[in-house]
Order: sequence, then structure tokens, then C-alpha cells
Amino acid sequence: MHRAPAIVILGPGSLATAQRIQQRYPQARIHGLAGRVQGADAYYTAFGDTLRGLYEDGTPLIALCAAGIVIRSLAGALGDKDDEPPVLAVAEDGSAVVPLLGGLAGVNRMAREIAEQLGTTPAITTSGELRFGTCLLNPPAGYALADLEQGKRFVSDLLAGEPVRIAGEAPWLMQAQLPASDAATRTIHVGCEARPASRDELLIHPRSVVAGVAGGRLANLPEALQQAGIAPLSLACVLADEQAMADADLHQTAQALGVALRFAPSPTGLANMVAAAVPGARLIEQPGVVIGVAPAPVDVAGVGRRRGRLAVIGLGPGAAELMVPAVKAELAQAEDVLGYETYVRMAGPFRDDQVVHCTDNREEMQRARHAFRLAAEGRSVVVVSSGDPGVFAMAAAVLEALHASDDPAWHRVDLQMLPGVSACLATAAQAGAPLGHDFCVMSLSDNLKPWSIIEKRLDLAAQADLVLAFYNPISKARPHQLGTALEVVRRHREGRTPVVLGRDIGRPGQTLRVVTLDELVPEMVDMRTMVLVGSSTTCVFPRASGGVWAYTPRWYPGAG
Ligand code: SAH
Repeated sequence: MHRAPAIVILGPGSLATAQRIQQRYPQARIHGLAGRVQGADAYYTAFGDTLRGLYEDGTPLIALCAAGIVIRSLAGALGDKDDEPPVLAVAEDGSAVVPLLGGLAGVNRMAREIAEQLGTTPAITTSGELRFGTCLLNPPAGYALADLEQGKRFVSDLLAGEPVRIAGEAPWLMQAQLPASDAATRTIHVGCEARPASRDELLIHPRSVVAGVAGGRLANLPEALQQAGIAPLSLACVLADEQAMADADLHQTAQALGVALRFAPSPTGLANMVAAAVPGARLIEQPGVVIGVAPAPVDVAGVGRRRGRLAVIGLGPGAAELMVPAVKAELAQAEDVLGYETYVRMAGPFRDDQVVHCTDNREEMQRARHAFRLAAEGRSVVVVSSGDPGVFAMAAAVLEALHASDDPAWHRVDLQMLPGVSACLATAAQAGAPLGHDFCVMSLSDNLKPWSIIEKRLDLAAQADLVLAFYNPISKARPHQLGTALEVVRRHREGRTPVVLGRDIGRPGQTLRVVTLDELVPEMVDMRTMVLVGSSTTCVFPRASGGVWAYTPRWYPGAG
């Protein structure tokens, strides 16, 4: 099972069972019906659509409801049997576990695990599995079946009474109840060699091969494996020199070939690099590629290390539905989460296996360097900002830290900035369209810039008749500056100019006010407020639901 399962529940009566299943799969998320369930990790409104969406995404599904409901919901979406996620129905009280789909994706194994967790017996109905105690077509992690269609015929033969013998190392079959006989003509063959499976053979490849490649030579890999007579399915991972860690071509080729990439230093050549990473491997040297064949499946996590990732993400203003999907996905795969405590809490909840590092809001450079140290070790790190990370937030701090560093390991980190809905955009959307024409975004904080430059910019922006969006408009340490700022603005704007004040937009207790520049006093504003000062063309009119719409037309007087 590669992806975390979704546990889908319809009512509060299933929550306890769902949580027990979640203990077995800590990465699983509980999806609850909105309005009916509380305490879930995610909420949905349409059961059928949600189930189908998850199924089509390849997410293993554990639905706590009648098997019939699941069958009806997925009927229209059922596709190719060889390529579907496990789907199980579990009785609300945990008394029955019914594997429904995904036999080749390990549904029976999951059914056993869940049944064990719930103290019951799974309803396994697969003949081969019942007879032999294992699904021969779904070997455990570390092994890959060479040919599924051929394998199905092979299992039918065994079910019809043919005896079998095992050639090679198949430790998981030691417990199985196979009709074994040394004289059998049917063979389960476990090995790395590339060979066509014969009619009487179930061919299984152990993932016991690590290919060391020189940077830029990954494209040679298929040919090198072929020359060496190694089945591509035996490849556990590719090991490359860590100096090539940031090489875009290398990553692209690895993706095209569908191989996992790991990295290690190779000061004394590829062969030594592979030998050090996979002790006991037999080495086959090809041009630009050294193939290491280990005696047993290789645990990829123990081979060299992976490229670390650092994502600087924007949560948006606060409401979960305003967070972009890429940010949600990044948070789900994060190993370390860094940020100011308030924002980190907003980004949660986190799983027990995720490490949360909360810091003070002002320790930005320290936080950025800490993030790089973790990512350079190969970890998957997320730095959290509210709104957009590039707007008066962590993205620039992270780049400043990288720019100042001459540590090559920091520069090789997979660094990504994932955008969010910035406070000015979230506030503007609620007020109407005050940013519908040219506007200017400023922070009024003089922590990192002199107040004189703020006044100068305010003066020029106000003179240029730009709509003004003020971040950090006021704070306890700077109580008087907003008043001074407004004096500058008033030199160029009329008193009836609309001003939008959005406080805690997208968060509990949010407030939105539209006042005039004349009415505006600093007491209406605090550090959780976004201030949008209109231009000469910004106007308001009543909305049917109460209050006003504020907008700035797209045109400007004098346009042709
Ligand atoms: N990166 C953030 C801005 C950080 S600066 C973003 O893109 O939104 C912090 C300032 O942003 C606050 O002082 C306040 O002026 C504004 N702000 C942030 N979140 C807000 C929200 N939910 N509602 C109103 N203003 C907000």
C-alpha cells in the first residue's frame, strides 16, 4: 500500500471504530459527513462523489457502512481490475471487515490487519488466498510479479490441483499452504534475471538491485540492465552522486523511467559508492552504470539518502477552503513543520510522526537556516506563512538565507514556494473589488526599513492615485505611525474616499467594515487588520444583503 487510506464515515456512531482503524494506519485520514460528524480530519457533503473521487485517485478506501452502499456508489466508476486501490466495507461497530475490491493491491492483507485491530475475522472470499493462505499474485513489499496475466493462469493451475516447487528465496511463502512437491512441473521462480516466464512458471523479481549511475548517464540504465541480464522490475533504486542531486535532467529521466533516486558521495568512483551503500552486493560494471545485486530485497530508505525538500507554503488567510490543494498535499507529506506558533497551529492538526518546530514570530532568519539544515539531511520540510509566503513573509527570508550560504548541500535542496491567498486579496474579495484597478501594496512596519522611506512611498503612491493596501498597519510597539501615515494619504485623497478594514478575514470572528477616510481613526485598526484605502475612482453602493459593495472600476477617467 503506497498511499494513506481514507476512512469514510457517515455518522457519529462510526467515529470510535474509525479511530481504532486509524491507530493501525496513522497516516490515514477520517472523512466525515459535514454537519453530522465532528472530530473527523476532513469533511465531505456528497458521499457517492467523495467515494468515487477517492477511488479514481487510487486512494485505499475503508468505508464504515453497508457493503451495498459502497458497491452502488462505485459501480459506475469500476475500471480495470489490475489497477485499482483496495476498497473495504467495515461494519460501523467494527464487527465485520469485508474486502470488496483491489485484490492485487493487497485488500485481503488490509482486511486481515483491520480485523486484527478490531478483534474480528475478515470476510476473505478469494479462492487462491483461502487455499494457499496468501495471494500469490500480490507478493509482499520488496518483490514484484513479472507477468500478471501469466500469473493468473498459473494460480488456476494450482487451484486445479497441480503441485508446485519453489526455486529461489521466497521467505513469505514458507508459511503458505502450497501443494509443494520436488517433482512438480509448476515452479515459483524468485530471481533478478531478465527472462521470459514460461507457461509453467510464476516469475517473481526481488527488488534487490541498486544501479549506481554517473550524472547524466541515467538514460543508459535500461540498456545497461539488459546487457547485464537483469530484469528492470528487480531494480530497487538508482544511486547517483550527491553532486548531481539538483540536476533537473536526472530527475526528469528518473521520473520517465519510474525509478526512485537516492544519493551518496562518490569520491572514489561508482563501484565503491554502490559497494558502500549496498554491502554484500555483487557488482556488474557497465559503461557509466554499476549494477549492484544484493542477496535479498533492498530497503531503499537505507541506501544513501534522498534529496531533501523545503517548501515555503502560504496557508491563505485561515479558512481551510481558501488553502490551495498543493499546500494541503505538501503539509500531508511534511516530516518537519516550522513556523510561528499561531500559523503552525492553523496548518495542523499534525500526525505523531510529524515534527513541529514552533518559533517566535521575529526569528525568521534563524527559522530559515534551521529549515535548510533539516532539508539538507534529506528531510521533507515545510515552512509555514499565513496568506502568501512571498508577501511580507518567509519566502524572501528563506532565499536570503540560501543566498548567504556557501554550503552546497543547502543549494541542492529541492526548494519550492507554494502560493497562498494573501490577506489583501481575501479582504478585497469580501468587500467586492476594491483592487479592481492599479494598486500598491505596502507594509507599514518599520522593523526592517526606515520610517522615512515608508512616508516617501506613501506620499508618491497616494499622489499617483493608486489604491493602497496596508499590511502590518499598527502594533503595540508602533501605536502612532498609522496616524502619521494617514496624514500623508489625506494630503492627496478626499475625505469621502472609501476605506475597507478586514480583520481576521477567513478566521473565526472575522469582521469587515467599510468607512470613509474622514471617519477612519487608528483605533479601528489593529495588527490583525488589513487596510485598503480607495483611490479617487473607488466607490460604494448598497448590497441587498446589507452593508455595501466597494469596488474600483477597471477604467480611469481620460481613457480613449
Ligand atoms: N503573508 C501574509 C502577510 C503577513 S504580514 C499574507 O500574504 O497575507 C501580517 C499582516 O497581514 C497583518 O498585520 C495584517 O495586516 C495582515 N493579515 C494577515 N492575515 C490577515 C487576515 N486573516 N485578516 C486581515 N489581515 C490579515
